[in-house]
Amino acid sequence: MARYTGPVCRLCRRESASGTKPGEKVKLFLKGERCLSKKCAVERRTAAPGQKAQTKNRPKVSEFGRQLREKQKMRRIYGVLERQFENYFKRASSAKGQTGAALLAQLETRLDNVIYRLNLATSRAQGRQLVRHRHFTLNGRRVNVPSMQVRPGDEIGVVESSRKTNLFQSLEQYAKGRRVPTWLEFDEQNLKAKVLARPTRADIDTNVEEQLIVEYYSR
Ligand code: SF4
Repeated sequence: MARYTGPVCRLCRRESASGTKPGEKVKLFLKGERCLSKKCAVERRTAAPGQKAQTKNRPKVSEFGRQLREKQKMRRIYGVLERQFENYFKRASSAKGQTGAALLAQLETRLDNVIYRLNLATSRAQGRQLVRHRHFTLNGRRVNVPSMQVRPGDEIGVVESSRKTNLFQSLEQYAKGRRVPTWLEFDEQNLKAKVLARPTRADIDTNVEEQLIVEYYSR
């Protein structure tokens, strides 16, 4: 599946400049540890990218504009392209319960996101790349599809030969003592994880107003 390969901080600045609350700094955390440092572009520049965006008298954002920005924000956080995101929404709208929560749960249970949540990658993009390079197993089988959905009871592991690499030794250090969501269980010693439950909205700390996205697709 294709992915966005352009400059990601630009996407982040775009969403930050149109944060839903005035003065709010929105960070999409697309660049791992850099996002927490002073080098973060959102910390250094508050305007949206592009010359037009720098002009002072910009029109007020319409309701549609807010819905659109929220949809773009969620899509960019999880690194999903337009068509794939639409498919997630279609599946979420035919699922039981609230559509917005079902949409978020589907994105959260993507394998690349789970690797990120387990702190075995510093960003979702890195999680995606590590999965593509076949460093993980799902229920004992080597996998290379970042969009795979994990289900309660599934077990995720790191391939034995990958554990010895410098990359995984530094990731092992990175993961130590970091918080893991309650719907996942992580054994830091053996780098093994188990999916305990499907995440609910309360388990997901992603800063998005999913109701605006439902409204966007309901026009
Ligand atoms: Fe966004 Fe991270 Fe880039 Fe900062 S460093 S602008 S949070 S992607």
